[in-house]
Amino acid sequence: MRNFCAAPNCTRKSTQSDLAFFKFPRDPARCQKWVDNCRRAHLEDKTPDQLNKHYQLCATHFETSMICRTIHSSPYRTVLRDNAIPTIFDLTSHLNNTQSRHRKRIKELSEDEIRTLKQKKS
Ligand SMILES: [Zn+2]
Repeated sequence: MRNFCAAPNCTRKSTQSDLAFFKFPRDPARCQKWVDNCRRAHLEDKTPDQLNKHYQLCATHFETSMICRTIHSSPYRTVLRDNAIPTIFDLTSHLNNTQSRHRKRIKELSEDEIRTLKQKKS
């Protein structure tokens, strides 16, 4: 078992914090969703069994509603709901690239250019 989070741009380690870590689910359909959301190519060719044994995600990638904290059991346990899917990932580098591409496509007119266009019409 690797002790760091498998999510992109996440460097959290299970040994460094008291943050909860969750193994990939063995259920193939649910495991596939986790892999899809992670968007990490090196996870895609692994079997659910391999992922379950060697990879985990930290609690920051899950909506709080997907995490149940049970204070009744000791030691303090954090468990995921049966159908929990990680949805919170830092994909900012990817998003920035697409945004800058869009920005180049949209040409903003300067005030001078707008004035020239208006003059041509009249
Ligand atoms: Zn993480």
